[in-house]
Amino acid sequence: MDKISLKEMKLYGFTGCLPEEKKNGQYFYVSIDMMFRELKGAVTDELSDTVNYAEVYSIAESIVKDSSFDLIEHLAYEIGRKVISSCEMIDAVKVLVRKPDAPVDGIFESMETEITVRRSEAVISFGSNMGDSEQTIRLAIDAIKQIEGVEVKRCSSLYWTEPVGYENQDDFLNGCLVISTYLKPTELLHELQRIELDLGRVRTIKNGPRTIDLDILLMSGVRLDTEELTIPHPRMYERAFVLVPLKELGLYNGTIPDDKAVRPSGIKFEV
Ligand code: ADP
Ligand code: MG
Repeated sequence: MDKISLKEMKLYGFTGCLPEEKKNGQYFYVSIDMMFRELKGAVTDELSDTVNYAEVYSIAESIVKDSSFDLIEHLAYEIGRKVISSCEMIDAVKVLVRKPDAPVDGIFESMETEITVRRSEAVISFGSNMGDSEQTIRLAIDAIKQIEGVEVKRCSSLYWTEPVGYENQDDFLNGCLVISTYLKPTELLHELQRIELDLGRVRTIKNGPRTIDLDILLMSGVRLDTEELTIPHPRMYERAFVLVPLKELGLYNGTIPDDKAVRPSGIKFEV
């Protein structure tokens, strides 16, 4: 990994839990490390092949100056998000925020936090078997494109699939989407759940009919098992309707159980 850092920017701001911190403000020291898989500018000596440091400085400055969050953790996160979205070349940003004058009794050098914002590739599966499924999936993909911090890269074609689990329902239309995102996994899940609700999803019978189901299958560098979210998706390798589109995208080359239950629909969206 290559790295560019801007160290110890001294910026006046109003983040803090106490009313006097929000009113009077204080100095924050912000350091930003930007990580690159390969920084082209190191080889080419071209200005256009590296980040614009002045822009990074002014992002940090305006966020610290204009915001009055409760937590420096959140302040650091907001800076990280803005910096990574300002330049496609950056793969990860580490933001360190120090608050030397934090109103805490005692002798200490500073309160500080370090937050990392990282770009990952993720695979989302989608499925629908209520209403106009093709149109709903189209709307879901459009909505995913609109999420701040998400870029849709590729989409499989769509497949008709016989329902699994609860069989007294229509066939599903299924497929997978590859995205690049700097959102944290749970943040991405919440955005997908918001889109499910916006498109009229009601949670009723388990494995039952649904207007739209959006699941996170994989996320690069992420292994997670919490009550709310498991990545990789725990049932993905049992599901032909997930593995067939993954195979089409070149992301799976193992065997597929019961792949005859999955039929090409001839529908493919350009993304
Ligand atoms: P289904 O299992 O058919 O997708 P739901 O869409 O109703 O059912 O999801 C049930 C719960 O699964 C969600 O509330 C969510 O918190 C949880 N969940 C765990 N891991 C994942 C994942 N990788 N992607 C999406 N939801 C997940
Ligand atoms: Mg789901």
